[in-house]
Amino acid sequence: MNPGIVTVSYIGATILFILALGGLSNPDTARRGNIYGIIGMFIALVATIAGITANIAILVGGLVIGGSIGLVLAKRVQMTEMPELVAILHSLVGMAAVLVGFANFMDPISHFAGVELTIHDIETYLGILIGAVTFSGSVIAFGKLSGKIGGNPLLLPGRHWLNLGLLVGTIYVCKMFVDQSAAGHGEGLIPLLIMTGIALLFGIHMVMAIGGADMPVVISMLNSYSGWAAAATGFMLNNDLLIVVGALVGSSGAILSYIMCRAMNRKFLAVIAGGFGTTSGSAAAAVEGEQGEVVALEAHEVAQLLKDAKEIMIIPGYGMAVAQAQHIVHEITKALRAKKTNVRFGIHPVAGRMPGHMNVLLAEARVPYDIVYEMDEINDDFPNIDVSIVIGANDIVNPSAQTDPNSPIAGMPVLECWKGKTTIVLKRSMATGYAGVQNPLFFKENTRMLFGDAGKTLDEVFKAL
Ligand code: NDP
Repeated sequence: MNPGIVTVSYIGATILFILALGGLSNPDTARRGNIYGIIGMFIALVATIAGITANIAILVGGLVIGGSIGLVLAKRVQMTEMPELVAILHSLVGMAAVLVGFANFMDPISHFAGVELTIHDIETYLGILIGAVTFSGSVIAFGKLSGKIGGNPLLLPGRHWLNLGLLVGTIYVCKMFVDQSAAGHGEGLIPLLIMTGIALLFGIHMVMAIGGADMPVVISMLNSYSGWAAAATGFMLNNDLLIVVGALVGSSGAILSYIMCRAMNRKFLAVIAGGFGTTSGSAAAAVEGEQGEVVALEAHEVAQLLKDAKEIMIIPGYGMAVAQAQHIVHEITKALRAKKTNVRFGIHPVAGRMPGHMNVLLAEARVPYDIVYEMDEINDDFPNIDVSIVIGANDIVNPSAQTDPNSPIAGMPVLECWKGKTTIVLKRSMATGYAGVQNPLFFKENTRMLFGDAGKTLDEVFKAL
């Protein structure tokens, strides 16, 4: 294809990606945003393939193999496994940047010299560095999200010094690499390998040091890193579209990290340095003393409470995703609204296991957007609420975030449902949530528990309604 047409296609794809991001910022326009993104990616793929003159068979072969694996994975993955899938996909972007970096370094027809060579070397070095951190960090995040690795932070003694040492080490090795590379083509492999090792260690250490409750920040941060890794790959391959798309993902991921930090009342650098809260042990013990009886209800009693209420707040959490209860939740909502009950949804920014998780589920069940509220919009309304119904949520409604300074979730804003008249909590057992912290909400006088899989218990509630 004519290079001019490729460039024009790239510009068109870039505009579509920007429109996609704009669309995704609001539930009303999210579907349209997705469609823009799909069209943009289709144009980008066609233009890239058509613009390549050599090795087309390898490219198409790779596309078919990679595309087929992606298709099978996406079809097989359960909705609850989406966050893990996203984490592992981030790791692939990181790995791609590392591989492209090494391929670039070994390229026998490299024509750079002088300052250009130094710039090219630093590009390659940074690409591999960001890629390796993204790769190992995302693999650990995958382990933590899937429960294969425990959620407690790994707090090595002197970890801040260790991080500083690794940073200084990479700068020193960068100088070694640039000097050796200037001495002759293909020189500098050893420093490059040393840096890759350091970067892999740094990625592991960084994510291992982060406690369960702070994982949302890590997810969005790795999202951002994967964007920068893609942008670095774009520089190495001289591909403008990859640079622009990488920068879009990188900067939107950085904004998301900032939003997540604000939602959790954390400072970004402090989260990255790790070590918020220590173990859940102290928090669990602190609550132990205050524990009283929990009061369990049957489904028909819950239905009665809902029937009598005028103001209802539904608070969904990760358990709603596990139970796939969003559809029956919508049925109940419709039934209650039909008898003029004011039903609203309160969404915590870190509910579930990925940013926007609850909004996606509610949109899938076609719950109207105008009754879905962000935490900040409705937290002051709880004193006027007759019944709050907590569906498979735990950490996001834990009052100890406000009352126990030793808790791993201390300082995190939570939905203050206990300030309403009655709170009904739907869960299967007395198990803790993701952060591993006991929840005093369950023992409050105005809290009632409905035990069982939320899908099943809500079915019974609906029938009783
Ligand atoms: P939690 O993980 O705190 O609690 C979920 C609760 O759901 C559990 O206590 C569990 O109790 C219950 N549950 C599970 N399955 C079912 C089921 N089938 N039916 C009924 N209940 C069920 O989730 P929250 O949404 O409250 O909080 C999110 C947590 O995840 C926060 O700690 C957040 O920091 C973290 N996180 C969030 C990410 C994000 O981007 N949003 C990313 C990574 C982590 P039981 O087993 O007794 O049923």
